[in-house]
Amino acid sequence: MLELKRIYWTRKSLHLAMLASVIWLLAAAILAATHSAISQRPTSLIDVLRPLFDAVLAADTAPGLLIIVLVVAAAVIRGSDVRRRDPLRRFTRQQRREGMARADWQCEMEAGFHRRCSRPVEHGDHFYPWSKGGATSLQNFVAACSRCNRAKGARIPSPGQQKRLERRRLVYVDAHELVAVGERRELT
Ligand SMILES: [Zn+2]
Repeated sequence: MLELKRIYWTRKSLHLAMLASVIWLLAAAILAATHSAISQRPTSLIDVLRPLFDAVLAADTAPGLLIIVLVVAAAVIRGSDVRRRDPLRRFTRQQRREGMARADWQCEMEAGFHRRCSRPVEHGDHFYPWSKGGATSLQNFVAACSRCNRAKGARIPSPGQQKRLERRRLVYVDAHELVAVGERRELT
Protein backbone atom coordinates (compact mmCIF):
# COMPACT_ATOMS: atom_id res chain seq x y z
CA MET A 1 0.00 0.00 0.00
CA LEU A 2 2.72 2.45 1.03
CA GLU A 3 4.88 1.30 -1.85
CA LEU A 4 2.12 1.94 -4.38
CA LYS A 5 1.42 5.39 -2.89
CA ARG A 6 5.06 6.33 -3.31
CA ILE A 7 5.36 4.97 -6.84
CA TYR A 8 2.03 6.37 -7.99
CA TRP A 9 2.50 9.88 -6.61
CA THR A 10 6.15 10.16 -7.69
CA ARG A 11 5.13 9.49 -11.29
CA LYS A 12 1.99 11.62 -11.07
CA SER A 13 3.93 14.63 -9.75
CA LEU A 14 6.64 14.13 -12.36
CA HIS A 15 4.01 14.29 -15.11
CA LEU A 16 2.41 17.40 -13.61
CA ALA A 17 5.80 19.10 -13.13
CA MET A 18 6.67 18.34 -16.75
CA LEU A 19 3.39 19.77 -17.99
CA ALA A 20 3.81 22.91 -15.83
CA SER A 21 7.41 23.40 -17.02
CA VAL A 22 6.44 23.18 -20.68
CA ILE A 23 3.67 25.75 -20.13
CA TRP A 24 6.15 27.96 -18.26
CA LEU A 25 8.68 27.60 -21.10
CA LEU A 26 6.13 28.59 -23.75
CA ALA A 27 4.61 31.44 -21.74
CA ALA A 28 8.05 32.87 -20.87
CA ALA A 29 9.09 32.70 -24.54
CA ILE A 30 5.93 34.45 -25.75
CA LEU A 31 6.15 37.15 -23.07
CA ALA A 32 9.84 37.77 -23.73
CA ALA A 33 9.28 37.87 -27.50
CA THR A 34 6.39 40.34 -27.39
CA HIS A 35 8.12 42.53 -24.83
CA SER A 36 11.38 42.61 -26.75
CA ALA A 37 9.61 43.33 -30.05
CA ILE A 38 7.79 46.34 -28.58
CA SER A 39 10.82 47.86 -26.87
CA GLN A 40 13.07 47.83 -29.92
CA ARG A 41 13.27 50.32 -32.79
CA PRO A 42 14.77 48.09 -35.43
CA THR A 43 16.66 49.22 -38.55
CA SER A 44 17.35 45.75 -39.94
CA LEU A 45 16.11 42.23 -39.55
CA ILE A 46 19.13 41.20 -37.49
CA ASP A 47 18.34 44.06 -35.08
CA VAL A 48 14.97 42.46 -34.49
CA LEU A 49 16.10 38.85 -34.33
CA ARG A 50 19.20 39.20 -32.15
CA PRO A 51 17.51 40.86 -29.11
CA LEU A 52 14.45 38.66 -29.66
CA PHE A 53 16.60 35.54 -29.53
CA ASP A 54 18.55 36.80 -26.50
CA ALA A 55 15.37 37.73 -24.62
CA VAL A 56 13.71 34.36 -25.30
CA LEU A 57 16.88 32.48 -24.37
CA ALA A 58 17.21 34.40 -21.09
CA ALA A 59 13.54 33.90 -20.21
CA ASP A 60 13.66 30.17 -21.02
CA THR A 61 16.84 29.31 -19.12
CA ALA A 62 15.09 28.42 -15.86
CA PRO A 63 12.18 26.38 -17.31
CA GLY A 64 14.60 24.80 -19.79
CA LEU A 65 16.93 23.60 -17.04
CA LEU A 66 13.97 22.32 -15.04
CA ILE A 67 12.74 20.32 -18.04
CA ILE A 68 16.20 18.77 -18.45
CA VAL A 69 16.21 17.74 -14.77
CA LEU A 70 12.72 16.22 -15.12
CA VAL A 71 13.67 14.33 -18.28
CA VAL A 72 16.73 12.89 -16.51
CA ALA A 73 14.56 11.88 -13.51
CA ALA A 74 12.07 10.16 -15.84
CA ALA A 75 14.92 8.32 -17.59
CA VAL A 76 16.27 7.11 -14.23
CA ILE A 77 12.82 5.78 -13.28
CA ARG A 78 12.41 4.09 -16.66
CA GLY A 79 15.86 2.52 -16.31
CA SER A 80 15.04 1.07 -12.91
CA ASP A 81 11.69 -0.24 -14.24
CA VAL A 82 13.56 -2.08 -16.99
CA ARG A 83 16.04 -3.59 -14.52
CA ARG A 84 13.17 -4.81 -12.34
CA ARG A 85 11.47 -6.68 -15.17
CA ASP A 86 10.54 -10.27 -14.48
CA PRO A 87 12.32 -12.63 -16.90
CA LEU A 88 9.02 -14.50 -17.12
CA ARG A 89 6.31 -12.33 -18.62
CA ARG A 90 3.52 -14.86 -19.07
CA PHE A 91 1.70 -16.33 -16.09
CA THR A 92 2.02 -20.09 -15.89
CA ARG A 93 -0.97 -22.31 -16.53
CA GLN A 94 -1.05 -23.05 -12.80
CA GLN A 95 -1.02 -19.35 -11.83
CA ARG A 96 -3.80 -18.57 -14.28
CA ARG A 97 -5.92 -21.43 -12.98
CA GLU A 98 -5.41 -20.42 -9.34
CA GLY A 99 -5.84 -16.69 -9.97
CA MET A 100 -9.01 -17.17 -11.99
CA ALA A 101 -10.49 -19.65 -9.52
CA ARG A 102 -9.73 -17.20 -6.71
CA ALA A 103 -11.87 -14.65 -8.58
CA ASP A 104 -14.64 -17.20 -9.20
CA TRP A 105 -13.99 -16.82 -12.95
CA GLN A 106 -15.33 -13.28 -12.91
CA CYS A 107 -13.41 -10.14 -13.87
CA GLU A 108 -12.03 -8.39 -10.76
CA MET A 109 -11.64 -4.96 -12.29
CA GLU A 110 -13.78 -1.89 -11.77
CA ALA A 111 -16.65 -1.08 -14.11
CA GLY A 112 -18.15 2.30 -13.32
CA PHE A 113 -19.22 3.62 -9.91
CA HIS A 114 -16.52 1.45 -8.32
CA ARG A 115 -18.57 -1.69 -8.87
CA ARG A 116 -16.98 -4.96 -9.86
CA CYS A 117 -17.08 -5.79 -13.56
CA SER A 118 -19.61 -8.58 -14.22
CA ARG A 119 -17.97 -10.09 -17.31
CA PRO A 120 -16.35 -13.53 -17.28
CA VAL A 121 -12.59 -13.69 -16.85
CA GLU A 122 -10.45 -14.09 -19.96
CA HIS A 123 -6.98 -12.84 -19.02
CA GLY A 124 -4.49 -12.69 -16.22
CA ASP A 125 -3.48 -9.07 -15.72
CA HIS A 126 -0.35 -7.84 -13.95
CA PHE A 127 -1.53 -5.41 -11.23
CA TYR A 128 1.85 -3.65 -11.35
CA PRO A 129 2.43 -3.73 -15.11
CA TRP A 130 5.11 -6.18 -16.19
CA SER A 131 6.94 -3.40 -18.08
CA LYS A 132 7.15 -1.40 -14.84
CA GLY A 133 8.65 -4.16 -12.72
CA GLY A 134 5.46 -6.02 -11.80
CA ALA A 135 6.14 -9.62 -10.77
CA THR A 136 4.64 -12.54 -12.69
CA SER A 137 3.25 -13.99 -9.46
CA LEU A 138 -0.12 -14.90 -7.98
CA GLN A 139 0.20 -11.88 -5.65
CA ASN A 140 0.38 -9.60 -8.69
CA PHE A 141 -2.33 -11.47 -10.62
CA VAL A 142 -5.69 -9.84 -11.29
CA ALA A 143 -8.37 -11.74 -13.21
CA ALA A 144 -9.71 -9.58 -16.02
CA CYS A 145 -12.07 -9.67 -18.99
CA SER A 146 -10.49 -8.58 -22.26
CA ARG A 147 -12.23 -5.21 -22.22
CA CYS A 148 -10.88 -4.25 -18.76
CA ASN A 149 -7.50 -5.75 -19.60
CA ARG A 150 -7.23 -3.56 -22.71
CA ALA A 151 -8.52 -0.47 -20.90
CA LYS A 152 -5.94 -0.75 -18.14
CA GLY A 153 -2.98 -1.05 -20.50
CA ALA A 154 0.42 -0.56 -18.85
CA ARG A 155 -0.75 1.99 -16.30
CA ILE A 156 0.07 1.74 -12.62
CA PRO A 157 -3.26 1.60 -10.73
CA SER A 158 -3.99 4.28 -8.14
CA PRO A 159 -3.78 3.54 -4.39
CA GLY A 160 -7.58 3.99 -4.30
CA GLN A 161 -8.08 1.27 -6.94
CA GLN A 162 -5.85 -1.07 -4.94
CA LYS A 163 -7.77 -0.43 -1.73
CA ARG A 164 -11.14 -1.00 -3.41
CA LEU A 165 -10.00 -4.20 -5.14
CA GLU A 166 -8.75 -5.60 -1.83
CA ARG A 167 -12.00 -4.63 -0.15
CA ARG A 168 -14.03 -6.35 -2.89
CA ARG A 169 -11.85 -9.43 -2.58
CA LEU A 170 -12.79 -9.81 1.08
CA VAL A 171 -16.24 -10.81 -0.17
CA TYR A 172 -15.35 -13.50 -2.71
CA VAL A 173 -11.84 -14.71 -1.87
CA ASP A 174 -11.61 -17.66 0.51
CA ALA A 175 -10.07 -16.78 3.85
CA HIS A 176 -6.92 -18.82 3.32
CA GLU A 177 -6.24 -17.19 0.00
CA LEU A 178 -4.56 -13.96 -0.92
CA VAL A 179 -6.52 -10.73 -0.59
CA ALA A 180 -3.60 -8.31 -0.87
CA VAL A 181 -2.82 -7.39 -4.45
CA GLY A 182 0.35 -6.17 -6.13
CA GLU A 183 3.95 -7.32 -6.11
CA ARG A 184 6.90 -5.58 -7.62
CA ARG A 185 10.27 -7.15 -8.20
CA GLU A 186 13.29 -5.95 -6.28
CA LEU A 187 15.95 -3.97 -8.04
CA THR A 188 18.78 -6.38 -8.77
ZN1 LIG B 1 -13.95 -6.54 -16.81
